[in-house]
Amino acid sequence: TGEKEKALQMERIYVAVRARPLLPEESRSVPWQITGNSISFSNQSHKFEFDKIFGEDCKTKEVYDSGTMNIVTSAVSGFNGTVFAYGQTSSGKTHTMKGSDDEPGIIPLAIQDLFHAIQETEDREFLLRMSYMEIYNEEINDLLAPEHRKLQIHENIDRGIYVAGLKEEIVNCPEQVLELMKFGESHRHIGETNMNLYSSRSHTIFRMIIESREKVEDNELNDSCDAVRVSVLNLVDLAGSERVAKTGAEGKRLKEGSHINKSLLTLGSVIQKLSEGAQSQGGHVPYRDSKLTRILQSALGGNANTAIICNITLAQKHADETKSSLQFASRAK
Ligand code: ADP
Ligand code: MG
Repeated sequence: TGEKEKALQMERIYVAVRARPLLPEESRSVPWQITGNSISFSNQSHKFEFDKIFGEDCKTKEVYDSGTMNIVTSAVSGFNGTVFAYGQTSSGKTHTMKGSDDEPGIIPLAIQDLFHAIQETEDREFLLRMSYMEIYNEEINDLLAPEHRKLQIHENIDRGIYVAGLKEEIVNCPEQVLELMKFGESHRHIGETNMNLYSSRSHTIFRMIIESREKVEDNELNDSCDAVRVSVLNLVDLAGSERVAKTGAEGKRLKEGSHINKSLLTLGSVIQKLSEGAQSQGGHVPYRDSKLTRILQSALGGNANTAIICNITLAQKHADETKSSLQFASRAK
């Protein structure tokens, strides 16, 4: 029951903001002030509070330790979890989630911790599987099996909601996971002439499926084979928020076929509903309105742990997008 209590305490959505350093050609937008865990515009007309605000000097490891590490360890104990990087293109989402050789992102840090936590859990044996997919134009593509495109979402009693035909690789060590990720990335831009545009429009979902059961001695009969725990950890690099932010601000919906990102809009409504307590009060949460939220449904709300890292820049030329991103993130609180 200790674990249950922990899950209940964590049920709310953790929302952090991370400001990336300015690029050499950028100038600072002076009106923004960061004080503790709030960020405001100079005239105080916009003041946003979050669980945590990470300034420009902060390292990804700090971001990870503050809001993600406990989601990873909870996943090993059987609780689903999802971490999102939200923000306009070039705000630092991929830097935060995937990172670089110089600074590992949340995904490699989580993988290290995951394998470590499993080793520490001596009374259980684990089976880890990984999948890696992208959603582009509301189409699901398998990054581990590039020939698997336009996959469909199914639901049944045994498996719950799942992506039919999505490859799940059994993984035994962090290095293997990183290799598979690299493989996935290398196939991603085949046929794409504009990688920037592409990555700004697609969501990438890195997923670990953690299955475990109690260890039994060789001479003991295993009558506890029904005590299998399965949990899912999703680490999501979202599409750039810029178009959504603009349409949101103008309050009008663009027609299908234009650049609006349906998944991102729906995610906003789902998160807002969850943070208002809609799910526990039996209210409607519009998971079905987009592929992204449908795929993540069982790892959002309820017993699941959710974190959003809202990436922003304090550059002058992005002031409007930054404001929109902060508005999105504050709706999740
Ligand atoms: P996004 O994925 O949101 O489009 P990126 O992660 O690609 O943005 O970041 C844009 C650029 O800024 C990249 O060159 C990246 O290396 C750099 N960058 C982003 N965040 C940081 C940070 N916290 N520290 C140093 N460089 C960063
Ligand atoms: Mg990116």
